Amino acid sequence: MNLKEKYTKQIKDEAKRLGFMSCGISKAGFLEEEAPRLEKWLKNNMNGKMQYMENHFDKRLDPRLLVDDSKSVISLLLNYYPEEQQNDDTYKISKYAYGQDYHHVIKGKLRKLQEFISEEIGEVSGRAFVDSAPVLDKAWAAKSGLGWIGKHSNLLTQKVGSFYFIAELILDLDLEYDHAVTDHCGSCTACIDACPTQAIVEPCVVNGSKCISYFTIELKDELPLEVKGKFDDWAFGCDVCQDVCPWNRFSKPHNEPLFNPHPDLLSLTKKDWEEITEDVFRKVFQKSAVKRTKYAGLNRNIGFLK
Ligand code: SF4
Ligand code: SF4
Repeated sequence: MNLKEKYTKQIKDEAKRLGFMSCGISKAGFLEEEAPRLEKWLKNNMNGKMQYMENHFDKRLDPRLLVDDSKSVISLLLNYYPEEQQNDDTYKISKYAYGQDYHHVIKGKLRKLQEFISEEIGEVSGRAFVDSAPVLDKAWAAKSGLGWIGKHSNLLTQKVGSFYFIAELILDLDLEYDHAVTDHCGSCTACIDACPTQAIVEPCVVNGSKCISYFTIELKDELPLEVKGKFDDWAFGCDVCQDVCPWNRFSKPHNEPLFNPHPDLLSLTKKDWEEITEDVFRKVFQKSAVKRTKYAGLNRNIGFLK
């Protein structure tokens, strides 16, 4: 085994030990296939009011502009599929937001992985990313063989579906690189057919400005009347396109205690949600990503669903 192979194995083994579901590696470079797609998506205003998506166009497509001397993009998946879920007859929040905010949980693990690399391999510089900087995480994970991009535009795997977070370490270290896997969506269109707001406008293209996640989390203005009645009881995010995906039958519950919901969350009825006080909101969502909407934002969403 040469040094490159040895380092690659050490990193992948440690990632697994830290609880990541899988780890794949690609050579840092320009994302040629993504460039025209991203340009078209932005040109058609599919980012809605998410203006930040228009920033750093070049950096989004090439991590070498983001991290000096970067050589490798290490993509990591962390499962968040919960063992227990909200019942159908209540207002719903995306499963990824049940427990503690993933940014903190994943950053802690990435820090440990970086420490391991410094101790075992030596001085390696780089940066860790969790949904927080212009990195096209799904494209990198797909390039690294961790899955394919499903028609709902999420990363998808035959073994475990799509309920996981994606994070990256971009390093100035040469490693062994993985290869993309084949697409297994076939003739299925379940996600496109089930989307309550018809936001999946063509296979693998989600019009962000029509997606319930955008309306309930990103949009700070009043919710537009033309989508009233279409949110299918989703109060924060939306999992419909993933819930209907046949590959998600293979999702397995995570084993990260920090992702477990507050004990009161799963039993909240519609009435409880409608009457939620700021104190209860703070208690149930103390460390959750739901805090992004703040109390007023969640109330706006619930009011819209009534
Ligand atoms: S998250 Fe919901 S609204 Fe957005 S594309 Fe998927 S099904 Fe449609
Ligand atoms: S629901 Fe069907 S088309 Fe959509 S991502 Fe899953 S397999 Fe692909």
